[in-house]
Amino acid sequence: MSKRTPPRADASTNRLRYSPTALKQAIDYCPRAMDHYQNRVPMFSHVFDVGTCAHFIAEIIGNQQAQRASKDQIKDPAAIVRAATRLLLAVGSPNEAIPHPISPDAVLEGRDLAVRVMDKYPCKIGAQIECAVAFDKKWKQVDWDAKDARFRLVYDRVERGQNIDPYDDDAPGFDFWEATDYKTSWAADGKLLDGIQMRAQAIALSKLYGGRDDVECVRQTILNMRSLETFSRDLWVLSKDSELDGWQADVEDMLAGYDAQAKGGRARPARPGPNCLGCSYVTMCDEARETYEGMGMEPDLIEMARQYAVANAKAEALQKVLKSCIKDGARAVVEGQELAMHAKESSVVTAAQAERIYGEFSEGGAGPLDFLVAIGGIGKTQLDKAARVMFPEDRDIRGAWIDSHHSKKIGSVFGFKPVAASNEQREAEAVAVTGTEAATN
Ligand code: SF4
Repeated sequence: MSKRTPPRADASTNRLRYSPTALKQAIDYCPRAMDHYQNRVPMFSHVFDVGTCAHFIAEIIGNQQAQRASKDQIKDPAAIVRAATRLLLAVGSPNEAIPHPISPDAVLEGRDLAVRVMDKYPCKIGAQIECAVAFDKKWKQVDWDAKDARFRLVYDRVERGQNIDPYDDDAPGFDFWEATDYKTSWAADGKLLDGIQMRAQAIALSKLYGGRDDVECVRQTILNMRSLETFSRDLWVLSKDSELDGWQADVEDMLAGYDAQAKGGRARPARPGPNCLGCSYVTMCDEARETYEGMGMEPDLIEMARQYAVANAKAEALQKVLKSCIKDGARAVVEGQELAMHAKESSVVTAAQAERIYGEFSEGGAGPLDFLVAIGGIGKTQLDKAARVMFPEDRDIRGAWIDSHHSKKIGSVFGFKPVAASNEQREAEAVAVTGTEAATN
């Protein structure tokens, strides 16, 4: 049915052959990134190192679990994990065509993630691990290396499951085939299931397993290796109202578009911009370099900005998870410092104190306006509060009143913004300045 060991070192560079990873490059970054991926341009892959190691160790443990009757029958699981860890430390991931050295921190972090995941979610006996499959243009399964292989993918694991109602022994259960996708991003959640990548994966899954052994349901599961959460959806593949037909048409249209872009061996279009900051080819891509050099940015600055973007995204995702764990009673102590919702003192002025302040201020004859100027004026928050007192019932009137009682001034805020938008803004600002000059003259 499927190969158990994906031939990852395949040297083919067929640009009309697609995979979920190739699609991800084009969708998240630009069609040229897909070209780079298909042409095997070395990628800046260090940000994926933890994931690479976690997948490798999970594959080793998963294979052991799938082939044995129980966890206890695995001979010295710790020794197996240790041997795999040593291999990663010495040469990098053997699953890569050209393994690159991986930092020990990333290896150990990946190992720990994998061990935790496989302990909590062990593979069932007979599970297919790193299950590689290929399809032709009509979604007929073909050999991985077949000339007409059009779409190829590797499932992290596929296994058969049974859904039983935990509250009703008599309720009819149902069997399903489940494909699990390991993700090491903190942010990975059920929203990923709506992406075109996962839809393409769902089509492939339904072609492979729909109706097999009389099973009508296939399940896609995203397993977040960090939060240990799972997100699943069931697809009733033989149902007439299945959304799969629509998804299949979308995926085929999209692939036809990517075919057309590569027609005659042309390079697919590049779309340099802020998306380059997250793209793994940014250090190798001429278009990105030209764009950033044109903007007067040094490559090191680009790399720093990229790391800043990654760190921000990580911090945001980590904060969400940590806050929820701490709310549930967990404790996180790092080098004598506890991460928690600490009490914070702030100053408030009561209504009676405010009355006294204003009374004392106006003793010398100053009026309300003097008082407002002295305390630095009114901000949007105070304006909003005043409007709520004046127009408690009517939101629209409140909004209109606020709009007509304040002016805008341009300040600056540090962060990312689409390049095109900021160019437009520069043009708009230039027009505004010219207009002001004309008015002054
Ligand atoms: S670096 Fe930018 S232009 Fe180059 S492939 Fe990536 S996203 Fe596209």
